[in-house]
Amino acid sequence: MSAEQFLTLDPASADFVVDVSNVVRDDALLSARKADLERLTALCRALASHVGDHTLQIYAVVDDSLLTDSYLTRAERAQLHDWVEAGLMEPRTVADDRLIEIADLSGVSVVSDDGFVEFHRRYPWISGNRDRFVKPVPLPGGRVGIARRVMPVPEDWQITRKEEERLLLSAGMLDRRTGSGPRREFLERLWRCPERGCRLFEGGRRTGAGQALPRHDRGRAVCPTHRLPLIDRGPRPSQVEVKIHVNDEVQTRVVVVAGHDVVVGRDPVARKGQRAVLIGPWLTGAATHLVSRSHVRLACHDGVLEAHDTSTNGCRVRSADGTEREVRPGRTWQLRRGQRLLLHESVWVEISGRTFVLEGETPLPKAPARSEPSGPTMLGQILPKQDHRKGRRPTR
Ligand SMILES: [Zn+2]
Repeated sequence: MSAEQFLTLDPASADFVVDVSNVVRDDALLSARKADLERLTALCRALASHVGDHTLQIYAVVDDSLLTDSYLTRAERAQLHDWVEAGLMEPRTVADDRLIEIADLSGVSVVSDDGFVEFHRRYPWISGNRDRFVKPVPLPGGRVGIARRVMPVPEDWQITRKEEERLLLSAGMLDRRTGSGPRREFLERLWRCPERGCRLFEGGRRTGAGQALPRHDRGRAVCPTHRLPLIDRGPRPSQVEVKIHVNDEVQTRVVVVAGHDVVVGRDPVARKGQRAVLIGPWLTGAATHLVSRSHVRLACHDGVLEAHDTSTNGCRVRSADGTEREVRPGRTWQLRRGQRLLLHESVWVEISGRTFVLEGETPLPKAPARSEPSGPTMLGQILPKQDHRKGRRPTR
């Protein structure tokens, strides 16, 4: 297994932003080598096990010096270049400010052991933070684990000195301290880089869902690689990421983009413009004949996830407080964060845990009021919980 399956440059899909050089050069991990690419794979596995999701995705930022690091083998350097070329890893002259920018905009957690002291003034949430920074640590038996970090609260003079060092380091570059901060509206547009063959902003990749984060420079969106102002391709379609659990494990995650419905089922058939997610191979026991070939069609409208039941047996919606509603065959449900859409007791769809700027407002569901049999999210007819085991028919 390589780290490749964990890589994405779409901040909507990423769970962590990773300082690749920092991890690959950490000689406390795995081997005594000064740089070892296997540490990145070990980190990804450790993160996946830490969050209990083997479909975990990371946004990997690599500083240029690692791409030519002679402590890596030729094959390891070639691998890194391949990932950069494939748009799976973002190369930077210096990675640390980009890591914080991505974390700030997208809400992902940061994997690094840097103190980021020079960024505390601009990003006050860093000081004393206890839940946004983790680092890999060696475990007995040559394994790698994940430790949560408590960020320092630096004195003002420490910040100033770090900032000055940084200004010297980036001489000739823009002093970004005077900027007004990254702008969310940049994330709501699709961008194209004027440079031909740009890996970050070539546009049109992966159903239009994936796009790296633009850099903010004096009010403009700029390609972080080519430093050219990006060309606005129009509004980015709204999207919601869902995870599909089978037998208590996340088997896959899917970004549902407005205008590109996703059909989930045992052996689904997708029409033009749709995508099919085949879950048949993961099903076991009764689920193999109770889950329909095309069980549910997921659509995104203005950031709201709609589930259209297309099954023989219907679905159930289980809220965080354990209450359940039935979604009868042919009906539609607006799924909210915190709710599980069960195709079967062992198979469910839920919205990914992290809120992203492009999602619509999906507040946590309130407990259903007794006097209100139809919740505010109801589109079709939803019946109170029944014994769903009775009257279930094998599907077509
Ligand atoms: Zn570019």
